[in-house]
Amino acid sequence: MKETDKSTKSSRIDLKGLLPHELSRLVGRMGQQQYRAGQLASWIYGKGTTDLDEMTDLSKPFREALKKLAWVSNLREVERRKSPRDRTVKFLFELPTGECIESVMIEDGDRRTACLSSQVGCALDCKFCATGRMGFIRNLSPGQIIDQLIRLNQALRKRGERVTNVVMMGMGEPLLNYENVVRALRLMRLDPGPGIGGRKITVSTAGYLPGIRKLARENLNVGLAISLNATTDSERELLMPIGRGYKIADLLDAAREFYDLRGRRVTFEYVLLDGVNDADEDAVRLALLTRDLPCKINLIPYNELDGHSPYRRPPKQRISRFQQLLKERSSASITLRESRGRDISAACGQLFRPPNE
Ligand code: SAH
Repeated sequence: MKETDKSTKSSRIDLKGLLPHELSRLVGRMGQQQYRAGQLASWIYGKGTTDLDEMTDLSKPFREALKKLAWVSNLREVERRKSPRDRTVKFLFELPTGECIESVMIEDGDRRTACLSSQVGCALDCKFCATGRMGFIRNLSPGQIIDQLIRLNQALRKRGERVTNVVMMGMGEPLLNYENVVRALRLMRLDPGPGIGGRKITVSTAGYLPGIRKLARENLNVGLAISLNATTDSERELLMPIGRGYKIADLLDAAREFYDLRGRRVTFEYVLLDGVNDADEDAVRLALLTRDLPCKINLIPYNELDGHSPYRRPPKQRISRFQQLLKERSSASITLRESRGRDISAACGQLFRPPNE
């Protein structure tokens, strides 16, 4: 949309972020028939159109009336980096407030997974995570969250492909931006639109217990991953300050509750840090902790950040031994995540933008 006057823009409604029933209400108030709401949703969330004039199946008078009331926001893409090694693509988007966020597209067979950000920076300060170093800057709006997916989809469409899976594992703690994230999750399943059902979506949390309990009661059907990363509370508190507030035992209880209410096994993520949480005893304790719990365990060898990081990735042998010990003792399904995009700093925990860049 050609728009110069910011004040008029801000007084209008951003259509990107509105749920179908809200679009219906809007078109109803404008004296239009309900199917117009579906057309709008399809343009905005499916094709990714931001110019109301391009929505050619809407009548001209309706488009003109709509322009007076509403607009469609758009993140500005500032960079796209493709990993020559594994085809992972990192997108850098700029917000109207000037900060940047990162989104990553990961190819794996037929699967196209979008790793999306929920916040600029993060308040939780996990010691091994690059985003934690930025501190918390702001929450993303529902429109800014769903826009990342729309844009990745647009990039794929040129090759006749589309995003098949979403992981909320980019920058930020999704459960600390709960309302906006949940709204974006509801938009993801729209068809026409991104058409991604809950079964193909995973929300990853550092362990914000109230958010986990709330999500378990939401009629969303998305999967949940909890970043455990340690097997004792004292060790966890050192790595993840949020552990001071929410103990491992309570996270395990919440994971069981999530399974009982939603019928989906929770994934425990465990970043392997050399000499910190990768001992044999850790593997044994991890197996014990999760023994009676229907769950999955995802081991993530640490992705090194830069020279300043005190942590190292364990040697290959240590990783295999940890995995082996766990397999022998646990009924959980265990996977080892070979993070993609390490060569372009797009892997787990590597998403970081200095605020002034
Ligand atoms: N805040 C959410 C989602 C973002 S992090 C959460 O904590 O789950 C996504 C995953 O990457 C988490 O499991 C986190 O523990 C892991 N991670 C963070 N930094 C990492 C690093 N440097 N190397 C490997 N994994 C990392």
